[in-house]
Amino acid sequence: MDLLNTLVDKGLRRESPTREEALAVLATSDDELLDVVAAAGKVRRAWFGRRVKLNYLVNLKSGLCPEDCSYCSQRLGSKSEILKYTWLKPEQAAAAAGAGVAGGAKRVCLVASGRGPTDRDVDRVSKTIAAIKEEHQDVEICACLGLLSDGQAARLKDAGANAYNHNLNTSEATYGDITTTHTYADRVSTVQQAQAAGMSACSGLIAGMGESDEDLVDVVFSLRDLDPDSVPVNFLIPIEGTPLAGDWNLTPQRCLRILAMVRFVCPDVEVRLAGGREIHLRTLQPLALNLANSIFLGDYLTTEGQSGKDDLAMIADAGFEVEGTDTTTLPKHRADALAAAGSGCGGHGGEGGGCGPCGDAAPADAVPAQAAAGVTASTPAAAEGSHADLVAVRRRGAGTDLPPNA
Ligand code: SF4
Repeated sequence: MDLLNTLVDKGLRRESPTREEALAVLATSDDELLDVVAAAGKVRRAWFGRRVKLNYLVNLKSGLCPEDCSYCSQRLGSKSEILKYTWLKPEQAAAAAGAGVAGGAKRVCLVASGRGPTDRDVDRVSKTIAAIKEEHQDVEICACLGLLSDGQAARLKDAGANAYNHNLNTSEATYGDITTTHTYADRVSTVQQAQAAGMSACSGLIAGMGESDEDLVDVVFSLRDLDPDSVPVNFLIPIEGTPLAGDWNLTPQRCLRILAMVRFVCPDVEVRLAGGREIHLRTLQPLALNLANSIFLGDYLTTEGQSGKDDLAMIADAGFEVEGTDTTTLPKHRADALAAAGSGCGGHGGEGGGCGPCGDAAPADAVPAQAAAGVTASTPAAAEGSHADLVAVRRRGAGTDLPPNA
């Protein structure tokens, strides 16, 4: 296909596809799917080889959030029967993080529900970072605490946070249909504050919330402009008790096309296969490793993933290798730019180029936000039917007496 040859050439040159080319990837047929995966796989291997980076989530504070993100089981008024607990103590968080590191994770993602941290919360997280780094000096720490206020990014960086996650989630045009308590611009501002403080930015999306192909392309091009180092691609986990609980509108094939499109638009960026991979990709999960170079090990914030052992077996069986701490994840030009930004020399913006609870979606007491707003899904794949039987609320690890899945 001329389209795929063009996209591979552009990806190897870090040149942006056009919007039309990105839309064309989403519109490919099932007969063309393996060609699409193979083409995007060439770009993935050019920048990241056959390495898979493992990341490990620690939910520091679960539920009871005052915000109303429709996809989130921790939202205001959520009827989801998730674990609810307040801040883990630093030693509890360090123990959970240690399990992830022992399982092969090189990044630990410290996530807390809420609109954003207070200065006291930043103190707590700083102590947690210190407790983790005391045991595991080489581990990367990413904080995901919601909207940041002035000075908080710098304090987190000084405390040892290497990265900050805040997802854009969906297009600017549809953001108000998903969340009303904060804005898309708030989210962009927080990512920019993290970058300005010299932290590596992690910002991605959630697919499967009734968005159109145009919305998906919009958010991915916005992410390219924002230029994060890592782009998590979540597939909505329609958790019972959330407004989007009935939104089962993804197929494995559509998930692969979305991942391929993200890889073509963000060729040299860590594309992270995030929440929802097990329930939406199902038996096609291994194919996604040809597109994403990074995944979460084990469980998500409020739902359970497949066992960490199965994650490792899948990576090995598909012919990939777990990335070690002695390997730099990012291509050299990106790693150098990040180092320059971290030293205060600038680094972002040269390439043209909830917290983000990783797709743990969400309450049945409300009309689905997009339906209420009259948004019509134009996704080519109609609802295949519910796979709600595959969604398991997390009952182990952080906040419980049971060992974590890692
Ligand atoms: S995504 Fe974050 S801010 Fe939004 S409801 Fe969930 S925990 Fe709260």
